[in-house]
Amino acid sequence: MADYDLETASAKLDRDEIVQRLRGMWRWQELLPVFQPENIISLGEGDTNLLPARRLGEQLGLPRLFIKDESSNPTGSFKARGMAAAVSKAKELGLNKLVIPTAGNAGGAMAAYSARAGIQAMVIMPADSPLANIKECQVMGAEVILVEGLISDAAVLARQKSQDQGWFDLSTFREPYRCEGKKIMGYELAQAFHWELPDVIIYPTGGGTGLVGMWKAFAELEFLGWLKSKVKPRMVAVQAEGCAPVVKAFQSRDVDCDFWAGAQTIASGLRVPRSFASRIIMQDLYQSGGCAVSVNDSEIISAQKNMAVAEGVFAAPEGAATLAALTHLLDRGWIRSDERIVLFNTGSGLKYLA
Ligand SMILES: *Cc1c(COP(=O)(O)O)cnc(C)c1O
Repeated sequence: MADYDLETASAKLDRDEIVQRLRGMWRWQELLPVFQPENIISLGEGDTNLLPARRLGEQLGLPRLFIKDESSNPTGSFKARGMAAAVSKAKELGLNKLVIPTAGNAGGAMAAYSARAGIQAMVIMPADSPLANIKECQVMGAEVILVEGLISDAAVLARQKSQDQGWFDLSTFREPYRCEGKKIMGYELAQAFHWELPDVIIYPTGGGTGLVGMWKAFAELEFLGWLKSKVKPRMVAVQAEGCAPVVKAFQSRDVDCDFWAGAQTIASGLRVPRSFASRIIMQDLYQSGGCAVSVNDSEIISAQKNMAVAEGVFAAPEGAATLAALTHLLDRGWIRSDERIVLFNTGSGLKYLA
């Protein structure tokens, strides 16, 4: 993972000055991996809204419920954050051919940022990925290869392309920078909660970049001395019943996940049979005092409807899954009614319309 000279940063950087800068992910540029500002490839990612979910909160008896709404990012999902960081760094390093295996949204974001950078893009994705994901990659000039199978099958082909033909592989956690882009969600939460952190973060977990990234951000924020309290959020990983390797490992208190065979769910971003960073995901969950919860597709569909009707947020199925998980956690008594809870809506439901 990327490391920073946080000692110097804590002496030189002023959090209150940073939040006065222009909006967006790059206001945190000293804490991102790109050295030269001219290498930054941006489409306006980051600084998404933290919406108070008052009506849902009333229904659930949770007066401090929020939705971090990532659907307003370029390309309609939070994958934009990771790709903005990774493609910018690739440009800085002089790379000119990028390949990615994806369940969908990462491909669209990679195609967009590569187009903007003038870098060649190759996207390898399951043939049954949402149509919007396939089309956006094609429109943005990426070479698209559809595979029969899952992201794990796409990953095998991507590695081959990288070894045989010199395409640089941007697979989740095979390069360190996508996680850096996503960690900024953690900085934004700290800022929004006036340098405290919420009590619980409910996050739909596929490759786990955001979960691992935010946990890293909280450690950095603490080192920088920017937080008012040492209390960290309990991180909740949400997965689909049809692909729940993290939940399975959590239930048996394992330090690592097994490959999940036959992964199936409408939440395509969660159709990740095993993350390359599965050990780190587990470690962060245990350290935070969090947990892992699985929900089924029909619960996801009802939660999507409930969130839309109550809050006007048309969430991606992955984002809706966090609301479904929240009701499980309430049933189990895992959440107190006075806690500050953040649901991550990681993308727009519009991208999943057939
Ligand atoms: C990729 C994706 C996820 C999973 O994110 P990870 O950081 O890989 O765990 C969740 N929701 C959406 C909409 C996605 O595209």
